[in-house]
Amino acid sequence: MDKLHFDPATALLQSAHDDNQHGVNISVSDSATFTFESGKQMTETFNGEHQAFLYSRHWNPTNLELCKSLAAMEGSEAAWVTGSGMAAITTSILQLCKTGDHIVSSMTTYGGTFAFFKNWLPAMGIEVSFVDISNHDEVEKAIRPNTKVVYTETMTNPLLQISDVPTLAKIAHRHHAQLVIDNTFTPMIFSPIQLGADVVVYSMTKFINGKNDTTAGAICGSNEFINALIDLNNGTAMLLGPVLDTFRASSIHKNLFTLHLRMKQHSSNAMYLAKRFKEVGLKVNYAGCKDHPQHDIMTQTMNKAYGYGGMISIDLGTKEKASDFMAFMQQRGVGYLAVSLGYFKTLFSNSGTSTSSEVPQSIQDKMGLSEGLVRYSVGLDHDIEHTFSIIESCLSDLNLI
Ligand code: PLP
Repeated sequence: MDKLHFDPATALLQSAHDDNQHGVNISVSDSATFTFESGKQMTETFNGEHQAFLYSRHWNPTNLELCKSLAAMEGSEAAWVTGSGMAAITTSILQLCKTGDHIVSSMTTYGGTFAFFKNWLPAMGIEVSFVDISNHDEVEKAIRPNTKVVYTETMTNPLLQISDVPTLAKIAHRHHAQLVIDNTFTPMIFSPIQLGADVVVYSMTKFINGKNDTTAGAICGSNEFINALIDLNNGTAMLLGPVLDTFRASSIHKNLFTLHLRMKQHSSNAMYLAKRFKEVGLKVNYAGCKDHPQHDIMTQTMNKAYGYGGMISIDLGTKEKASDFMAFMQQRGVGYLAVSLGYFKTLFSNSGTSTSSEVPQSIQDKMGLSEGLVRYSVGLDHDIEHTFSIIESCLSDLNLI
């Protein structure tokens, strides 16, 4: 597909599977191991001289089909799927960085990623510098001769900052580092590989699967990178073993094909709420609003058909107000007071005390994370005006507007 007109949903649809002559869905491979015709063929497969499935932790037919579809959606050469988003992130990073290496990371990332970078990697002799990813001078200045990775999220969790992927790719490549992008919040909306990223990781637990029935992750990149990950002798995925189960791979594959419709609906509902929240005088953060600091860069780099995404936040000032408000919304049926995102019902949480609680208070203050921040993952509500009227009643009953 022409890079300038890359459309993830069309690319995905064209990725017809070929594992089964008759079934419309991919088959679930129910085998951990696979047979060989001869000892010679087994040896050749282990030596890489013969292509065959040998063991499910490496490859299996179901995961291969899901990976082909994900690679088509991203426009990457290849992909590999994991049992969680954290597995995709940690496996990719440990493949790219060894003791003595250095990473430049956005200061605002998912709390688990932050904790991995801040608390876990230093014990392995890998240092991480945290920067404001929208300040490109700061990013470039933080790069050292041993920097192997520049890491960010296209839309950061929880501040919903937008990363300028083309500019970050240029900076990383100028210094022979790789740009790794977590695109969990914005599948299809952004195609980071098309914008110059080297590796894209996902928590498929979120929008991609969209059902909150499992954790899962994906790594998309070049053939060279994916093959290195599953190298029998020193591939991080092969040796740490975070592979996704085939039953889950098959159910995620089915859900993937409605992702484009879901993303559009999440986005239009979030845009509606953002506008109405502003009208009632709330402090709103939504990338689709013109006053969002990176609205223009998002508009220039996004795939416009899918909207500005389903993630939105409001700031109620204190965590007590946030807590009361979320309890009211849950009682009145707006959605669930729960972490995670990308579900068909609206989910809301107070980021500072939940998904970003791994981030020390001093850094939360530095990155501008208010204690009263309520993060919404806006659902697929059919009547969002009705939803807003319930939210408005919660706000006014608590004297928040
Ligand atoms: N990346 C982002 C942006 C996330 O929000 C999360 C989880 O919330 C993860 C990665 C981790 O994914 P998982 O929970 O599937 O391990």
